[in-house]
Amino acid sequence: MLTGLNAVMIGGDARQLEVIHKLAELDASVTLVGFDNLHNQYGGVRKAELSESLLHEADAILLPVVGMDDDGKVESVFAAEPVQLEEKYFLSIHAQAVIYTGIAKPKLRQLCQDHQVRLVELLERDDVAIYNSIPTAEGALMIAIQNTDFTIHGSCAMVLGFGRTGITMARSLHGLGAKVKVGVRREDHFARATEMGFEPFYTQMVSEEAKQVDLLFNTIPSMIVTAQVIANLPHHAFIIDLASKPGGTDFRYAERRGIKAMLAPGLPGIVAPKTAGRIIASCASRLIMEDFTKRGDEE
Ligand code: NAP
Repeated sequence: MLTGLNAVMIGGDARQLEVIHKLAELDASVTLVGFDNLHNQYGGVRKAELSESLLHEADAILLPVVGMDDDGKVESVFAAEPVQLEEKYFLSIHAQAVIYTGIAKPKLRQLCQDHQVRLVELLERDDVAIYNSIPTAEGALMIAIQNTDFTIHGSCAMVLGFGRTGITMARSLHGLGAKVKVGVRREDHFARATEMGFEPFYTQMVSEEAKQVDLLFNTIPSMIVTAQVIANLPHHAFIIDLASKPGGTDFRYAERRGIKAMLAPGLPGIVAPKTAGRIIASCASRLIMEDFTKRGDEE
């Protein structure tokens, strides 16, 4: 349980509702900042304005999945304006408090480093990334189905990258009856992809491999679907780029060649906010509990 723990949640979207619910269930005291339009139905949860004293009292500070931008703004779908997290607030955070965020942009990392505040990036964790790959793959399949006039079953699908998202994507496509080619750069990934029934190739060969591809799913966060690759794709092929912005596709050339290509960021929060929220809530609450218990043992 988190009895006696003060959590301050600043901004967010529908996913944070699951986190609030979980923390309230565990008996934490939760203060919401930037939730003016939320009808509060949780016991032990109150709303407040951001202040130095509020952050000074906090044991856990929770930011949205996208964190804080480099101008110090924390977006909230529950308020008309973003919350402005100025440097002075970091000075008031006490030494044992922890900031939990999905991802951290450079400014947040820098402020935490300058003021010796521990920062936890939940999306960096393998467990969260693997759970998140499920709604990501489902969302990518949805986009593929909506944008093509052929079935995934019987099509030739290429997945670039064999990490946490790539493996789930390849397995989902395979389960639907696609022929799945997987672009890897490591021998162990080549072996594993073979064992799983896919057709692996090394990414240096991506242009040659592109010739028969109907659907291309990229998870590599650097330029890989180059003009040369796109030039070899059949005209009806569809590219779904899942890698973080700006993706790994030459979108300009795809448009010029008349090949449909789409950058599809943030799918878990779009197609399954409740599940995505539960993934964050479960991980964040576990980590907060571990940190809180450790602190109690030390004191
Ligand atoms: P990951 O586990 O690190 O997987 C990335 C894969 O790309 C690894 O297999 C890596 O190979 C490979 N790779 C990286 N650079 C490469 C290169 N230059 N050439 C060949 N292979 C390369 O990451 P992830 O969690 O799957 O996430 C992948 C991307 O998807 C990230 O950009 C992430 O932000 C994004 N993402 C998007 C969504 C969405 O909704 N669209 C959801 C989740 C994640 P090695 O193993 O050899 O390093």
